[in-house]
Amino acid sequence: MPLPEPLVRLVEELQRLPGIGPKSAQRLAFHILKTPREETDRLAHAVREVKERVTYCSVCNNITESDPCVYCRSDARDHRLICVVEEPQNVSAVEKTREFKGVYHVLMGALSPLQGIGPDDLKIKSLLARIGNGVAEVILATNPTVEGEATAIYLARLLKPLGIHRRDHDAEGDGRAARGLVSRCRGSLSLVGRARRDACRRPPDLLSPGFGAWTLAW
Ligand code: ZN
Repeated sequence: MPLPEPLVRLVEELQRLPGIGPKSAQRLAFHILKTPREETDRLAHAVREVKERVTYCSVCNNITESDPCVYCRSDARDHRLICVVEEPQNVSAVEKTREFKGVYHVLMGALSPLQGIGPDDLKIKSLLARIGNGVAEVILATNPTVEGEATAIYLARLLKPLGIHRRDHDAEGDGRAARGLVSRCRGSLSLVGRARRDACRRPPDLLSPGFGAWTLAW
């Protein structure tokens, strides 16, 4: 017996979600079918609301309910210090440390030749545009994966000629806190061109698993 048309459509839509194959999609669709109406209404409402109320910050690409996001419009944050991360969820990981008082730039992914993701697919041009605007230091906090590290190397080479200066290590304030954040998760140090790379040991109290940190010094 063929499945009713609405159920087929639901399976097709669920199958578009990342990590959901045909079998999982069908299992979820049948689960939704037998779920009480009020529960499925809540799910549908939550999906609709997230699309209506949550957007991306036009400055840093972080998720936000109002544009610009809370970090980009805050006078309490150091706008000369940018922490570059791959995804919006990485921002939450850094914020949980309560140590970083700069602002963010979310790349929306990492370079991946295998998946056909190149520099133009990431938010790199807008990062360069921001750097021309009084930024003193950039922390490259991409994930410690092959793609994340390749992205950090690419960005390090791209940013270096822009002449961003290293901030005084003895200076008080947010820059030192950010460097402390990076140096405290420093596991090893090696040179990538003239940029310093901090391979992160990821202390659990500082950063979530799977999160790495690089810092650049000129
Ligand atoms: Zn923002």
